[in-house]
Amino acid sequence: MESIIFIAPPAAGKGTLSKMFQDKYKIPHISTGDLLREASRGNDEDSKKLHEKLKSGFLVDDEIIMKLLEERISQDDCKGAYIMDGFPRTINQAKAYEKLLNNLGKNIGQVFYIGVDIDVARDRIIGRLSCPKCNAVYNELIEGEQPKVKGACNTCQVNLIKRSDDNVETFEIRFKTYMENTEPLINYYDNLGILHYIPEDMDKKTAFKLIEDIVTGGAV
Ligand code: ADP
Repeated sequence: MESIIFIAPPAAGKGTLSKMFQDKYKIPHISTGDLLREASRGNDEDSKKLHEKLKSGFLVDDEIIMKLLEERISQDDCKGAYIMDGFPRTINQAKAYEKLLNNLGKNIGQVFYIGVDIDVARDRIIGRLSCPKCNAVYNELIEGEQPKVKGACNTCQVNLIKRSDDNVETFEIRFKTYMENTEPLINYYDNLGILHYIPEDMDKKTAFKLIEDIVTGGAV
C-alpha cells in the first residue's frame, strides 16, 4: 500500500476519509492541524503564540511544521504507508517534504485532491465539533454526523469541543489562504503524475473505494 496525501480546502472531508483509512488499514493518520493543536495546548509562550496563530486562520511557519512533521514520520509506525492530512500546503513545503523523504528513504505515494463548494464548506464548519482526545469529528447540525450522546465523543465519551478557528470569520481567511497557497500544488503534483481528483459530489464510500484501488494497486 502507498501513502496518501490529501489536498483539499477546509471542511472538504479529508479528515473523514482519513479516519476511514485509519480504521480499515490501521495506518497512521497524520494531521498537521492536529499536531499543531496539540503543540498549542501548553502553558509556555511558544504554545500560546501558536494558539493565537491557529485562531487567526493563517498558515503556521514552515520551520515549526517541518520540525513536528519530521519527528512524527520518523516514528516506527510510519515505516510503511501513512495518511497525510493538511500537509503540504505550499509549494515550499512540498519541496521541503521531498527532501525529507529522500533523507529518510521514503516514497511520496499518491496525492488526492478533494473539491468542495465554499458554501457547503462554510455550513459544515458552523456545526463542527471535535474530540480533544481522539480527534474524531462530528457535526451537530448535519443528520448522520451527530454524536450519539449530545456533546460527547462516541468512542471516548469525553466532552466535544469547538475548534477556536471554526467560526465564519476565520473560515473565510482559511479558504482564501487555501486558494492562494495550496491550489498551486494541484498543478505541481499533476506534473509529477501522482495527482487524482475526487469530485465534490462523490459520496464518501465511493471516494474511499476509488482511493483504495489506487493506493493498493487494485489488490482489494
Ligand atoms: P482545515 O483544513 O480545516 O483548515 P487543519 O486542521 O488542517 O484544518 O488546519 C488548521 C490550521 O492549522 C490551519 O488554518 C493553519 O493555521 C495550521 N496548519 C495546518 N497544517 C499546516 C501546514 N501544513 N502549514 C501551515 N499551517 C498549517
